[in-house]
Amino acid sequence: MKFNNNNKRYNDYSSFIKEQFSERVQKISLDTGFTCPNRDGSKGIGGCTYCNNNTFNPNYCKPEKSITQQLDEGITFFSKKYKTQRYLAYFQAYTNTYADINLVKQLYNEAVNHPKVIGLVIGTRPDCINPDLIDFLSSLSKEYFISLEFGVESTLDKTLKDVNRCHSFQETVDAYELAKNKGLHLGAHMIIGLPGETKDDILNHATKLSKLPINSLKLHHLQIVKHTMMAHQFKKTPEKFSLYSAEEYIDLITDFVALLRPDIIIERFISESPKHLLIAPNWNGLKNFEIVAKIDKQLIEKNLWQGKNR
Ligand code: SF4
Repeated sequence: MKFNNNNKRYNDYSSFIKEQFSERVQKISLDTGFTCPNRDGSKGIGGCTYCNNNTFNPNYCKPEKSITQQLDEGITFFSKKYKTQRYLAYFQAYTNTYADINLVKQLYNEAVNHPKVIGLVIGTRPDCINPDLIDFLSSLSKEYFISLEFGVESTLDKTLKDVNRCHSFQETVDAYELAKNKGLHLGAHMIIGLPGETKDDILNHATKLSKLPINSLKLHHLQIVKHTMMAHQFKKTPEKFSLYSAEEYIDLITDFVALLRPDIIIERFISESPKHLLIAPNWNGLKNFEIVAKIDKQLIEKNLWQGKNR
């Protein structure tokens, strides 16, 4: 593949959405109020060192509101911008399968029963999934689009330990094994540039991810955000961090794309923490679409495309 239908040198997410739904689709973020096993003491405390859940929770989504109310408010907000579109209920904050299984099923049922919702996107940890839940999601997938996204973050156990994920890469591999071939759209979330990882380590993530049965991938560059353990570590030992400039990141990501299995849909290339929470790196307010344009340009300049160097 050199160019896809959208004139991109990689499988871009908006082409996928157009092909899948043939109309505009908006995700509505929801908060279930669940926690994480590395926060509540069952596996660890404190959560992941980089995590400040406020960085991805919009105002309308608060766990004290019902799923239906959060959906209604989200849809009211977005329908002012676009009159006709359908919605995916996005279980985004914290670990959205980490609760009593009957409660989890009840909340997912509530979301899909909303008349404007055509599917679910569920973000979770690889160690918080079980055969019962996979079977339930698989049955929902007969009528709805069901995307299950695991936070992979790194393929290196040393890194996972250092950032207090409290799960191994093998648990990630096992979670995908359990979830594959069940009618689910399987996503992966990766953080690029975690402390201690070299460029070779990062490029090797692309090779290892390509061996997993994933449909789509979200890449996030490491951002140090306020009120996190990592912010404290960064202040004390900045030499342990090698944060990328936007130019360095684009150079690395274009090489990463060239190593990635060609059918994987790339949903994101960067993170976008709110400005008031961001400590580093400072990319002078470069927006997502500007970074994407630079990545597109550099892929052409380097004559690379997704999968070229596999
Ligand atoms: S990154 Fe995810 S798993 Fe880690 S503490 Fe935050 S919400 Fe929990």
